[in-house]
Amino acid sequence: SWIFIGVILIQMLNKNDGWFYEEINGLRLGFLVEDILYHEHSSYQEIYVLKFKNLGKALILDQCVQLTERDEYVYHELIVHPALFTHPCPQRVLVIGGGDGGSVREILKHEMVQELDLVEIDAEVIKVAQRYFPSVSNKLRDKRVKIHISDGRWYVKKNRSKYDIVIIDSTDPVGPAKVLYEKGFQEDLVEVLNEDGIMVIQSESPYLHEQFIKGLCDFLKDIYPIVRIYVYAIPSYPGGMWSFILGSFKYDPVMADEALIEARWRKMHTKYYNPKVHKGGFLSVPQFMLKEKESE
Ligand code: SAM
Repeated sequence: SWIFIGVILIQMLNKNDGWFYEEINGLRLGFLVEDILYHEHSSYQEIYVLKFKNLGKALILDQCVQLTERDEYVYHELIVHPALFTHPCPQRVLVIGGGDGGSVREILKHEMVQELDLVEIDAEVIKVAQRYFPSVSNKLRDKRVKIHISDGRWYVKKNRSKYDIVIIDSTDPVGPAKVLYEKGFQEDLVEVLNEDGIMVIQSESPYLHEQFIKGLCDFLKDIYPIVRIYVYAIPSYPGGMWSFILGSFKYDPVMADEALIEARWRKMHTKYYNPKVHKGGFLSVPQFMLKEKESE
């Protein structure tokens, strides 16, 4: 297989002058490749581990960069901490997707968390993360974590236990991930959330998926009394700015007590998230992403 990887490396680098390009809606984001470390087709997707200049190792699924060692903390801190700090006592957490383990690592920084179920459809992603990305996947073996290899859709339909927080840390809304962004799945999720539960979903690039984000927000508002979008800068994702949507039955992240967040946050180490960033992300949503009426 080393010969095979070598051949791919030569073909790919010759074709693209040594660059890997992620292409989306006419935009091309380029990464200078130093090495191809892994390439396989799992039952669900094509998986690459590449080494990029300056960004370290990168996990690529179906030609989309999922993470680079250099900036993965931005996405993983931001998909986790706003919800976990908004909830006063998050004890049971469910992650759907997230097989690289980055969200799990961040969730377990919260001492209150007692049980964490991770539902990943593709066992191969977990194996690759454990082999090539130990600094991301190192908490997957923690005793509070239970890994379920399953489609998140079926897990939620069958499961009867309740969670304080559900995080949808999934690939883009195509293939097996598509259903996770549909109203039917979101309605099923309500059955596994506690009455004061919080749901977070990664919701793509504000610049490249504006209508998609609006559609998602619209039906989430039929489900949750509190729906908040928030945005952050993530260099290795197309468009540079990324969005998340938080749906909540009781706690509003914007009203969360900053002193209480501060007291909990002081006990952990983060590189991007802090109590001011918490509010900033929700309060600095660009006008074009708000309701059409408001942005006209
Ligand atoms: N940080 C990432 C990104 O670029 O948006 C997402 C991280 S993680 C690698 C996404 C994971 O979601 C993948 O490993 C994929 O296999 C998993 N996934 C996709 N559809 C799923 C489904 N229906 N149920 C469970 N996991 C799913």
